[in-house]
Parts: sequence; C-alpha cells; structure tokens
Amino acid sequence: MKLPYWGESISPTAIRCKECGVIYTSNVPKYCETCLKRGEEAIRKSLPLAQTLVDAVKAHAHKNYEKDGWDYVVESYEDKEIWEEIAGCKTPEKAIKKMHGIVSMLDDRRKDIEATAY
Ligand SMILES: [Zn+2]
Repeated sequence: MKLPYWGESISPTAIRCKECGVIYTSNVPKYCETCLKRGEEAIRKSLPLAQTLVDAVKAHAHKNYEKDGWDYVVESYEDKEIWEEIAGCKTPEKAIKKMHGIVSMLDDRRKDIEATAY
C-alpha cells in the first residue's frame, strides 16, 4: 500500500455539493467550503432573532407561571429546547402561541394524572 504524502488525504472522495453542485474533494460531507461558510453566516445572522423569541417565551412563562403549564418552561426547558419547539416562528406572539400549545398539553396530562391519583 502506498503511503500518502503529508497533506494528502488517504481516501480523497469527490463529492458534489448539495447546495451549489460544485464537485469538491474532501472528507467533509455534503457541502463545499463556500456553502459551509455561507451556512454558518446565515445561522449567525438568525441568532439574534432566535434569542429574542426565546427571551419573549421565557418572560411570558415567568409572568404566567401558575397558568396553563408555563411552569414547565421555567423549570425544565433550556433555551435550545425552547428554540427547537418554536422553530419557524417569526414573531414573539407566534412563538408564545406555539409554546402555549405545547405546555398546555403537558398541563392537561398532568391534571389527568392528578385526577386519577385520588
Ligand atoms: Zn457549495
């Protein structure tokens, strides 16, 4: 077996970038370097919005701690988990509404369990 030179990849694979279709050789799958960089930029740009929405949901949860299961958000959701639940929401109002649907479902289930416990 021929040993590779320094910097030479042992198994260079030609990959077609999923985004722009450019053929590149790398061990990094799916996207060429340009598209990877562009993707990271897009994520970085969307972060302030994500944080704004997550903060709005958290503030609402604190204010309504006693109501509709919002305590779940305060007690057991991390920012990242909140963001996953509200992904796709563009405004704080929509994010809160979406999260409300989730926590009120959890709250209903908790009430059911409490009701059958006695
Ligand atoms: Zn590309």
